[in-house]
Formats: sequence, C-alpha cells, structure tokens
Amino acid sequence: MLEISDLTVTYRTASYEVPALRGVDLSVAPGRSLGIAGESGCGKSTLVGAVLRLLPRTATATGRILFEGEDVLEMSWGRLRAVRWAGASIVFQGAMHSLNPVQRIGGQIAEPILLHEKATEAAARRRVGELLEQVGLPAARANAHPHELSGGQRQRVMIAMALACSPRLIIADEPTTALDVMIQAQVLTLLQNLVASRGLGLVMISHDLSVLSSVCDDLAVMYAGRVVENGPAAEVFTDPRHPYSEALAAAFPVIGDPRSRRNPRGLAGDPPDPALLPGGCAFHPRCPVALPECATADIALWRVDPFRSAACVRVRPVASARSEEAPV
Ligand code: ADP
Ligand code: MG
Repeated sequence: MLEISDLTVTYRTASYEVPALRGVDLSVAPGRSLGIAGESGCGKSTLVGAVLRLLPRTATATGRILFEGEDVLEMSWGRLRAVRWAGASIVFQGAMHSLNPVQRIGGQIAEPILLHEKATEAAARRRVGELLEQVGLPAARANAHPHELSGGQRQRVMIAMALACSPRLIIADEPTTALDVMIQAQVLTLLQNLVASRGLGLVMISHDLSVLSSVCDDLAVMYAGRVVENGPAAEVFTDPRHPYSEALAAAFPVIGDPRSRRNPRGLAGDPPDPALLPGGCAFHPRCPVALPECATADIALWRVDPFRSAACVRVRPVASARSEEAPV
C-alpha cells in the first residue's frame, strides 16, 4: 500500500540546509499498522508531510514514495488532491488548531464529502451523523462549535474528518499527545478498532513507544532523520536491538507520560540538530554503550532476523557472520 524508499528531505533556510530525513525506507501493507517512534526533532512529521506532499516550499524531497503503486512525489496536483482525501488522510496533532472555531463541526466534516464525492447536502448530512457515531459522538453534536467540545471529543471529530471520504490509509501524527491519559486510551482504541474493522492501513506517529506497541503491528524507531530499528512492534518494544530503542522502551513506564516527551529516562541531552550532525552514528554522543568506531563509522541498517533490522555496530557482527546477510 505504501512503500517508501531512500527518502531524503532537506529544508533550506537562509543560512544553511537541514537534512531532516536521510535515506528512509519503510512500508505498510494493506490492513497493517506501522508505528513511528522517536523524540521531537527526529523527522517524524517531516516523513508524514512528505507522504502527502504537505511540506513547505523550502523542503526538497528525493527518493520514492509509492502509494498503491503510484509515486506521490511525481503526482499531478489534481491526482494528489484526490489521493489526499480518498486514498490516504491525516489526523493531525492538536485538534484545537486544525478545526475552524467559528464553524459548526458538522459543516467541517461535510466539506470534503461535498467537495470530493459530489454528494448532495442531505446525503452529506446523513454521512456526518454516521461518522460522528462511529467515533462515539451523538449525531446531534454536528451542530456544536469546536469550543463546546472537550479535547478528546475534538480529536474524535478530527478522526471523523479523516474518515469522511473512506480512505484506505490513515496517517495519525501524534493524535493523542495533547490529551490526558484516559482520553488517550479511548482515542487510540477507537483508531485501532476502526482500522481493524475496515481493513485500513495505519501509520501512527508518537514519541511514546509503549503507546505504539499497544496499537501497531510494526514499529520503526527514528533518530536524526533515519530509521535506526524496525520490526514487529512487540519484539522491538520488549527486545530492542538499538540502544536508542532500548532507551525509548525504558522511558515510558506509564502510557502517555508527558514528562518523557523529551529526554527518555536514562538518556542525557537531546537529539542532534540535523544541521549539525555528529560524524559516525548520529546517536553515539548519547549512547551508553558506544564503541570507539561509532564516532566514525556510518552504520547501516542491518538485518537482525528476517523481520527485524537495526542500525548498530553491535548488531552487525551477528549478521555478517552469516554469509548470506547483507545490509538492508
Ligand atoms: P518530529 O516530528 O520528529 O518532531 P520534524 O519532522 O518536525 O520532527 O522535524 C525534523 C527536523 O527538521 C527538526 O530538526 C526541525 O527543526 C527541522 N524542521 C522542521 N520543519 C522545518 C522547516 N520548515 N524549516 C527548517 N527546518 C525544519
Ligand atoms: Mg512532529
């Protein structure tokens, strides 16, 4: 359904270039869910933006992003617009900023239905009612303005909007980060059930590995614009092979603990500024088990087993001992 290969994204600023993504490979099969984890600044939102070409003009993307076999980076604007609603749609972080405060929510959910499906007003209204009920809100809430809803209800409205044109892939960028823990769990369960019952693909972004491992089939951990580990979610969470995944996995004893947003427990400092990347493995300055070669060797993503890979020198010797193994 989604196949990303060797994706790079570089932002141009007045004085320098920011290599926000540096060769990312990821894929999502229909009906599967992929979680993307990493601290703030690792490139998660840039990845989401690239997939639907929502990045600012200062960003340049190279590589390939195949959505159902078509390269998103080469689509015409018309094609892209159609794909954005009916193919793949995004649930953004922070519903407060994405909803129009002066328009009733029913009208906002109906907008893409009227626009893209050329539905009649009456049909769109019916569909809005159905969508609201699917996300656990009474159909009558269509008449509410955003400020009359709680944060969790607004996020449900965002999900209803994302579902409006029956997309086959949903991309959720930190959909629950702004919500308290109980509401987070409700919204996540809702997303998980919708995806499972409709056989949709899901890409879910979070800095919280425990949230992702409870919702997603597969997990990719990003650091400094690269995937440093990926594989089945439960395995990456319980038996991480990259020291960064290990730190992230240890950082969230409580699902959604906001204190862990930055500085996962046991890890000093922040991810590097992409414009000032250290040589070697970008994680080595913070790595508790770094070896001397980590400061100079550019570590590729190596296969740990047929389903997992990790970009760490500690993985490589195991992999290269088997002659058929090669860098991923
Ligand atoms: P995440 O979502 O993981 O927090 P982002 O994708 O938002 O990370 O950002 C990745 C890196 O790209 C960060 O270092 C961020 O500062 C930088 N960045 C994001 N947007 C821009 C932009 N428009 N111009 C320059 N740099 C940017
Ligand atoms: Mg982000």
